[in-house]
Amino acid sequence: MPELPEVETVRIGLQTLLPGKRIVRVDFDWPKGFPNAASDVERFLIGSEITQVERRAKVLLVRLSTDYSLVIHLKMTGQLVFRGQQQFGAGHPSRSLVGPLPDASTRVTIEFSDNSKLYFNDQRKFGWMRLVPTPEVENIDFMKALGPEPLSDDFTPELFRQRLLKRPKSGIKAVLLDQTIIAGVGNIYADESLWGAKIHPLTPVGMLTKTQLRRLYVALRDVLLLSISKGGSTDRNYVDAEGRRGSYLRFANVFRREGQTCPRCGTVIQKLRVAGRGTHICPHCQKVVGP
Ligand SMILES: [Zn+2]
Repeated sequence: MPELPEVETVRIGLQTLLPGKRIVRVDFDWPKGFPNAASDVERFLIGSEITQVERRAKVLLVRLSTDYSLVIHLKMTGQLVFRGQQQFGAGHPSRSLVGPLPDASTRVTIEFSDNSKLYFNDQRKFGWMRLVPTPEVENIDFMKALGPEPLSDDFTPELFRQRLLKRPKSGIKAVLLDQTIIAGVGNIYADESLWGAKIHPLTPVGMLTKTQLRRLYVALRDVLLLSISKGGSTDRNYVDAEGRRGSYLRFANVFRREGQTCPRCGTVIQKLRVAGRGTHICPHCQKVVGP
């Protein structure tokens, strides 16, 4: 499942390629993946120009000159591939990122006036591309429920603390993963940031000091930015805007490193189950604290 840094990698790549492109044709073979009225597509998508590519949590927002947006959720296996004078592909790692297109995984093909194309590929067909009037995007149910973006300028240490304290009795890892508290934090980033801040994942939020929360805030933003700079977290066939493979996992300190030693103190890393998720900690650096 693509996480915030992977979706941000897609956004950065498309933002350098798509603005200014005019859409002349759309083909799709899976109506659930493109649930839009034909009349809307004809009126608000065909002929429109892409103005900007934005992101909210794990959702991409392709802004159009008609004041509509293409809202894109990659879900489990979605990927977006641009083919033109330049090439770009990111999202789910599969050979379709670099192979001939369209292929069996191609759900939607968008053609531009300069003959370049954007392919939405999705093997498992859970992803979708919805055409929504731009002012209505924030009122879509799942968008309304999302917490603030951890990398936005107005996401301050104080806001971070206030959001977490909405669930003071819950373990910190469960709260970090709660998308209504903070948007877009996945399992890897929760484990890495808790290790960075030396906090045990089961520590109740209400027992964390202001200093600990400040350290966690810094660690979380650092690990998200590090991952974006590496093109996302996957260790497989992942290609970013410049054709580099995502390599973040090689830099992970605890995630999927059980049995290896903590880079900070040399203690053997353990794997636990917390909030229903595989969880990786250094038992020396991250001591259990709690009632
Ligand atoms: Zn350690």
